[in-house]
Amino acid sequence: EPIIQIKNMRKMYVLGGETVMALQDISLDIQKGDFISIIGPSGSGKSTFMNMIGCLDRPDSGEYMLDREEVGKMKSSQLATIRNEKIGFIFQNFNLIPKLTAIENVELPLIYRGMKAAERREIALEALEKVGLIDRANHLPTQLSGGQQQRVAIARALAGHPPILLADEPTGALDSKTSKEILETMSLLNEQGHTIILITHDLDVAKRANRVVRIHDGQLFENGGEWFADN
Ligand code: ADP
Ligand code: ADP
Repeated sequence: EPIIQIKNMRKMYVLGGETVMALQDISLDIQKGDFISIIGPSGSGKSTFMNMIGCLDRPDSGEYMLDREEVGKMKSSQLATIRNEKIGFIFQNFNLIPKLTAIENVELPLIYRGMKAAERREIALEALEKVGLIDRANHLPTQLSGGQQQRVAIARALAGHPPILLADEPTGALDSKTSKEILETMSLLNEQGHTIILITHDLDVAKRANRVVRIHDGQLFENGGEWFADN
């Protein structure tokens, strides 16, 4: 069952009279339970595509069905609502709030939803448990290693129970051993049924997904992993 259906998506930027076709006619279906990576070099259109998938921006044309809702033409206020409901973001630099403890960071998306404190705490603890960090719940981000901070960020992404986890270079700030651990956590979450989209420029990272698509000059190609192996 598809959770994402993108058809003929285009996005261009006009900068000082110059037009850049950042996404030129992209079509992509993602199924519930997929673990897919999108790989491409710098300037290929990854961030632009992530902004579309993550409902941070709208395409110029094309269709985008996300969990049975057409988001391609939504107003920005609607887009914000959809984004909070449907997408759990994981970033390269974790984006944790330094003054809040691990569990308070995980609770943040639930506060925005107006959930009561006791229920919030319970869901946040569950999410921390899923990433193996329950014993660090009351630590501040500065008291945690990079890998642990990224686990907190993953727990925060999980807390709202979104249908999609969207990870943008999640291992970009981590050493190779820690990167491996984070990717293993993501594989485990996928085995538990979470749909994961991973955006990266790193083939070794991309290959940890079950499906690799390559983006190049704003165009998408299936079997990105094989393409890289052959070239
Ligand atoms: P990547 O994330 O793979 O580095 P981007 O999506 O950031 O690629 O960029 C794709 C293309 O669109 C590049 O040519 C980039 O220069 C251009 N681009 C991205 N954002 C903007 C913007 N806000 N204004 C103008 N051009 C942009
Ligand atoms: P893990 O046990 O998850 O592999 P590490 O081996 O990276 O974590 O770190 C062990 C401990 O050292 C952590 O509990 C953490 O408190 C501390 N630590 C590691 N790196 C840092 C760091 N950059 N800043 C603060 N504390 C750190």
